[in-house]
Amino acid sequence: MIKKIILSILLIVLVITGVVIFNTIRFSKAIATKPSKEIPSLPDSAISHLQQAIKFKTVSAGDAMPVDTAQYLAFWQFIEKNYPLVHKTISHQNFKELSRLYKWEGKHPELKPYVLMAHYDVVPVEGATEKQWTVPAFGGLLKNDTIYGRGAADDKSSLISILEAAEKLLASSFQPERTIYFSFGNDEETIGQGAQAIAKYLEDNKIHPEVVIDEGGEITEENFTELKRPVALIAVAEKGYMSFELTVEMHGGHSSTPAPETAIDVLNKGLVHLREKQMPYQFLPVIKEMLNRVGPGMPFTQRMAIANTWLFEKQLVAEMEKDKSSNALFHTTIVPTMIQTGIKDNVIPTVAKAIVNTRILPGTTVEQVEAFMMLQINDGRVKITHYSPPDKVGPAASYESVAYKKVENATYQIMKSVIPVPFLSVGATDSKYFQSIADGVIKFSPTIDAKGFHGIDERIGVSDLKRMVFFYQIIIQEAGN
Ligand SMILES: [Zn+2]
Repeated sequence: MIKKIILSILLIVLVITGVVIFNTIRFSKAIATKPSKEIPSLPDSAISHLQQAIKFKTVSAGDAMPVDTAQYLAFWQFIEKNYPLVHKTISHQNFKELSRLYKWEGKHPELKPYVLMAHYDVVPVEGATEKQWTVPAFGGLLKNDTIYGRGAADDKSSLISILEAAEKLLASSFQPERTIYFSFGNDEETIGQGAQAIAKYLEDNKIHPEVVIDEGGEITEENFTELKRPVALIAVAEKGYMSFELTVEMHGGHSSTPAPETAIDVLNKGLVHLREKQMPYQFLPVIKEMLNRVGPGMPFTQRMAIANTWLFEKQLVAEMEKDKSSNALFHTTIVPTMIQTGIKDNVIPTVAKAIVNTRILPGTTVEQVEAFMMLQINDGRVKITHYSPPDKVGPAASYESVAYKKVENATYQIMKSVIPVPFLSVGATDSKYFQSIADGVIKFSPTIDAKGFHGIDERIGVSDLKRMVFFYQIIIQEAGN
């Protein structure tokens, strides 16, 4: 009897090993390459246009601080003056005063249009970090073939690249086959009202874009060093954005006679419990597909795990959870970002509040996140309310969509031996407002490991700028077929 059991176990182990090896071998094929093109050189003016664009302090500082409207208006004057053919040929209208929609009429206006998006507002430079910048944050300095300044990467380079491509094409009397819109938001870093108004205008006028392209994913060499090839992370979806307010109200009083627990203590414990555990991981189809496309080029162990997720899913996810960027691809993230309480050092406050920001995986609901938070905190004295309205993110694009294919095809042309893969953007973008009205919304710009997003020494290489202009040029030129 025992012999029989041992034999059966051995047989099972043998079969599993056989299947694992078979799947791994079948998976181990070279990842295809497609011919790329020589990237045309940029006119010097393109570089100086981005440098000058950075100098406008179009800072979105949050709801409480007013924007310096004069800087925004001056920015548009600068654009109109420096892109004369765009200004002359392409009509535009403003939304919420400072956001702008350009309409470049195509030869076949009956075809579904494309929308190329960017935003020209930037996040402020944090006072505490200002000294750590090695260049003036709004100087637009060119150093070692790199353009420095707030907005260099996020996202004035996209706006400038789109206009450079259009100006260049207009100079050769080009007219796109289908209508192309440029949607430029002025408040992406705060509330995105400009982009919302533009999306609503398109919807009200029954304009359903076939392709929408905004910021989001990029090209990376750093994240897949084993592949020794650049990977274009073409995001087809983004996570939802939602903030909650946690409030504790308790007796306060003189700090010389504290009760065993105060509002601050209770809030504190709640936050600790909240951070002890993540929401359960989800292995979304888009992430599976991303791994399927890079997997064949990975070292044996990773390749084996990706080819056999039926057996190794948990180990694979656990490995990817070790890095905070890839962890965010598997989890709805929940993190406190603000704490407000106390008025004086010798007064125990009666109210303690914390703001918790969550980034929600597609398919997970706000209610599920809230329920998880309540369960983790497990203390009725911590009241949870909505701090921001829940995101209304429409359906994700498919990696079989025209939008994805167009962008994928363009990445092959602009980047030698690139591996394009579908991706999930963990950051929020203005393009989410277009997801319910367009056939496919892609969040991608072809920069390589751009540096300093929302941080210190934000910058972009001139080679990146060149590649971006060429990318948009290809998208516009090939919009007809
Ligand atoms: Zn941005």
